[in-house]
Amino acid sequence: MHVIIVPCYSDNYAYLITEEGSGHCVVVDAPEAPPIEAALEAHGLTLDAIWLTHHHFDHVSGVAELAKTRPGLEVLGSRYDMQHDRIAGQTRAVADEERFDCAGHEVRVLEVPGHTLGAVAFVVDGDVFTGDTLFLAGCGRVFEGTMEMMSESLARFRELPRETRVFCGHEYTLNNLRFAQSVEPQSEIIEMALKAATAQREAGEFTVPGRLGQELEQNPFLRFDDPVLMGDDTPVESFTRLRQAKDSF
Ligand SMILES: [Zn+2]
Repeated sequence: MHVIIVPCYSDNYAYLITEEGSGHCVVVDAPEAPPIEAALEAHGLTLDAIWLTHHHFDHVSGVAELAKTRPGLEVLGSRYDMQHDRIAGQTRAVADEERFDCAGHEVRVLEVPGHTLGAVAFVVDGDVFTGDTLFLAGCGRVFEGTMEMMSESLARFRELPRETRVFCGHEYTLNNLRFAQSVEPQSEIIEMALKAATAQREAGEFTVPGRLGQELEQNPFLRFDDPVLMGDDTPVESFTRLRQAKDSF
């Protein structure tokens, strides 16, 4: 599957997932309609569905406008968000470990509560779309769930193959790497990643997608239970300490 990155607002991302040559695609998250419409037009793609990672306004605000001109458009999100009626226009609810087909490829749903209680991620063909749960070198704020819930959700990403490409909901990588460096000032991996990301941003490039293998080495929120970061804390205490430090970084 081919992924087209669509920057929205100042730092959000939507992603068009398309099978090369099919002329069709789905979009992961719909922060705002105009840039998504422009990308569909530029690539000559028909939009078949919207997949939403969670209900926050900067991920769903484009849904109504995209659906208005496409009667019957599938708008897929979590069962929690459907049950609680949190996404206007949602037509389909998916649950943890549900699998469905997209252009002959299996899509696997992961419920990853913590940032919100209805957060989901989509695993498609060696890629994972993580919304605001896992960022490159960081993670989302814990708004609705508990620290334990968020740490368990993040730990699930560690089970995916290391070569998995990570497509996240925001371009927060530079700031996240600066925080990661403050946690592990000795890490050469983080220092190199920071240099690479700085060069990418100065060149006007996206830092997405990342690779899970790299994240496992640089992202403190995937390493919260590593003895080096955990010290004498429990895994949840360690995660909480890291997340609270990042909240005020
Ligand atoms: Zn969010």
